[in-house]
Amino acid sequence: MSSAPIVVWLRRDFRLQDHPAFSHAAKLNSPVVPLFVRDETADSLGAAPKWRLSLALRCFAERLRGMGSELILRSGNAAEVVAAVAREVGAAEVCAIGEEHPTANARDAQAEKSLRALGVRFRIFAGRILPPRPDSICTGEGGPYRVFTPYWKALRAAEIPAPLPEVGSLAAPESWPRSENMDDWKMESGMNRGAAVVLPRLRVGEESARLRLNEFLAQRVAEYGRRRDFPATAGVSGLSDNLAWGEISPRVIWDAARGIEGGDDFLRQLAWREFACHLLFHFPGMESESWRGEWDSFPWRGDNEDAERWRRGVTGVEMVDAAMREMFVAGVMHNRGRMIVASYLCKHLLTDWRVGLRWFAECLTDWDAANNALGWQWVAGCGPDAAPYFRIFNPELQAKRFDADGAYRRRFVAELSGGAKAGTDALDYFR
Ligand code: FAD
Repeated sequence: MSSAPIVVWLRRDFRLQDHPAFSHAAKLNSPVVPLFVRDETADSLGAAPKWRLSLALRCFAERLRGMGSELILRSGNAAEVVAAVAREVGAAEVCAIGEEHPTANARDAQAEKSLRALGVRFRIFAGRILPPRPDSICTGEGGPYRVFTPYWKALRAAEIPAPLPEVGSLAAPESWPRSENMDDWKMESGMNRGAAVVLPRLRVGEESARLRLNEFLAQRVAEYGRRRDFPATAGVSGLSDNLAWGEISPRVIWDAARGIEGGDDFLRQLAWREFACHLLFHFPGMESESWRGEWDSFPWRGDNEDAERWRRGVTGVEMVDAAMREMFVAGVMHNRGRMIVASYLCKHLLTDWRVGLRWFAECLTDWDAANNALGWQWVAGCGPDAAPYFRIFNPELQAKRFDADGAYRRRFVAELSGGAKAGTDALDYFR
């Protein structure tokens, strides 16, 4: 056993299967110090994702403890904290999985510099997306794809590395560095009533994610292409929050779904996540700037009273209200619902897509910067490969087509099933 520890810096990758940083450390048989750093200056998460992160952390810490390991928690400037821990434990290396986000890239560059000054190597492994890097898939001219279908064809033809096996044991260091107590971080405090409502519906952690995938592949994937657009049916995998927090890797999903009946339809949808990452990598302003410059001068309404009714799920448009309330009850929203409510906000209420993007970032337990930015820009019409400006989702027609018997609307709009008015209200849901 090599005695200098390896610090595995966890970010959004709370798993042991297909985790190249843990696999690397286990292969060297080095003691491993798993570390999570809460850097609120760089990463100010919304209430629901912050709470979901706390659940992911607690679950993963428990799992590590079961293996005789620990999850060390620290807060502060991530690059400085990582360097400090590396120094404290006399680390040989710090390893992490790349996040492919502009802020994360800047943070990693800073960490690299601080670690280099200490003589500690910083290794970034691929693992959040299917190809080794977001620019591994590129056009014949070597540039980024701007349209999904050719991107999907290129991805499908690419060599995707097989997932790494689960790491079964991690050597402990001679002594553990100090860890903060997560209770003091109060990551749940922004959720008020919301936490109790959403918790029973969540499946947190790698083991739950794998179970969810296996159930989906065994029972529902063959029908995915036909059922995935109908929000009242259990047609989709429900894996988005596990993917967002790295409790399962996309390669595990790719590997398991390839070649099975319905698998291609499902993987094509998974490829939207890859495409979103690819775009955010190449166009780092995607979260705040319209991708099509001509939209800069569009006279969007800023935040307004109609948008507030939209946020609270009390617009009076049943399909919109049902989807908005689904987000409060389940922590996620069906993709059909996301498209309908986003279209309603941007194209009926003419409200800036960034107002909606920010609300989703506050409320979704599966919040993902790249997916959220692409989703909003796609619906608003200002993004790459976007729905054209004249394509407006008519919520009534959408309801007729995708919720013909009203089951989805009745499930989430209490008034429609004889329940109390406004079953869920954003005001007491969040702080
Ligand atoms: P499944 O249909 O089972 O698909 C499997 C996986 O593929 C998903 O978990 C997801 O990772 C990926 N995927 C599927 N559809 C899409 C898509 N359209 N775009 C990108 N990836 C996709 N997804 C998020 O994970 N986080 C977000 O913050 C987010 N914000 C969105 C905002 C808007 C306005 C829109 C229109 C879509 C957004 N999406 C977001 C994409 C999509 O709605 C969800 O990924 C999907 O509903 C998750 O459900 P599922 O896991 O059952 O998906």
